[in-house]
Amino acid sequence: MTEIKQEFWFVVGSQHLYGEEALEEVKVHARDMVAKLNTSGLLPYPLIFQEELAVSADSITKLMKEINYRDEVAGVITWMHTFSPAKMWIRGTKLLQKPLLHLATQYNESIPWSTIDMDFMNLNQSAHGDREYGFINARLKKNNEIVVGYWENKDVQEKIGRWMDVAVAHNEGFNIKVARFGDNMRNVGVTEGDKVEAQIQFGWTVDYYGIGDLVAVVNAVSDEEVDQLFAEYGTLYDFDYADYDKETWEKHVKVQARYEIAIKRFLDEGGYTAFTSNFEDLYGMDQLPGLAVQRLMAQGYGFAGEGDWKTAALNRFMKIMSHNQNTGFMEDYTYELAQGQEAILQSHMLEVDPSLSANRPKILVSPLGIGGKEDPARLVFDGKAGEGVVVSMADFGTHYKLLINEVEAFEPTEEAPHLPVARVMWKVKPDFTNGVKSWIETGGGHHTVVSLNVTSDQVIAWAKLVGLEYILIK
Ligand code: MN
Repeated sequence: MTEIKQEFWFVVGSQHLYGEEALEEVKVHARDMVAKLNTSGLLPYPLIFQEELAVSADSITKLMKEINYRDEVAGVITWMHTFSPAKMWIRGTKLLQKPLLHLATQYNESIPWSTIDMDFMNLNQSAHGDREYGFINARLKKNNEIVVGYWENKDVQEKIGRWMDVAVAHNEGFNIKVARFGDNMRNVGVTEGDKVEAQIQFGWTVDYYGIGDLVAVVNAVSDEEVDQLFAEYGTLYDFDYADYDKETWEKHVKVQARYEIAIKRFLDEGGYTAFTSNFEDLYGMDQLPGLAVQRLMAQGYGFAGEGDWKTAALNRFMKIMSHNQNTGFMEDYTYELAQGQEAILQSHMLEVDPSLSANRPKILVSPLGIGGKEDPARLVFDGKAGEGVVVSMADFGTHYKLLINEVEAFEPTEEAPHLPVARVMWKVKPDFTNGVKSWIETGGGHHTVVSLNVTSDQVIAWAKLVGLEYILIK
């Protein structure tokens, strides 16, 4: 997949009242701050200081229009070095269509009591400027992020970094295109949804393809390409032949290698970054894509099963936000109800994301039990431990609703020799009874995206940006 190249602009608010000398000092401070923030190692994208200060309605409007227009600019961070009368900000802020972070900080960490005079206080009055500027953002309902604290502190820099990831994912959301191979699984409710509304609200394009369109691409893949990819599998995974003879096993695995090449080709040619399949709609296919889907998810493509395009798009979205670390499509399967050990076994019938694997995956071929196709190959592994979030999106007829539950994943301690799929275990917050009850009561789906890298604050920041109702269970 192509690398995402984005940057953020750092815009400093002031005014002409304090004289040109003061404005020069503002610039010196801002340059120093931006240079140190960029070398902190905590910002995932570069921050670019704008030498043109925000000192008039004209300059602010010009800056914001430029930010909107430039594709490489994901958002803007504003800082009030001095007092910057906020009527000047109205036009530009109203026009701004990209994420905004108001950094409530000040150049000096402490008040220099032995030397402070009126000149110093006039120059360093972020506390004053923050309030005037914040009023206008609140009145304009910008839903902007506000990060408070000393700019050299690690926690402040981390907050800026996490917001950058939200902003980039939000903007990239408008480039998410989902290819659906087949429709939704028959009779299933929660995977349905208003695709037009999803495009209006989140920017997601969702296109249908008959499975025959994919079969044509599958059939055009050469045996040489398949053999080459199969050889790569051998370097990355253990091979588990189980009860199959080697020849049959390899034949089944190579079918998935062919699917991987074909699906990737299909997606890349159409500009798609997410896709769905449906085990009920496989005419012309020998197997349900399993290993193939897992490999593509590991490369950053969004996916969900049974035609669930909402979860596929959400998966791609959260993969952008997490830099594709420990983030994937998931399904709630089986409860562990022993007192004190309550947890949920997470998996899917094949397609569990290897970005969540704690160990080296093995390739296994096994019957599927549904769909009436050949035994598909899949990657089997145990999921990682860690704190994270699980997110579900559902269409409630009048609007979309986002459900977020904080979870604690742990590595399974028991072997499961007869389970032919990858498994992930987690405990839900605040506790099993209340967490599960809230999830069911508010209509959270069985298909989700889990991330051990994204925080609930990040998901909520995005929900606010797109005007999406959310419920947080923690
Ligand atoms: Mn499913």
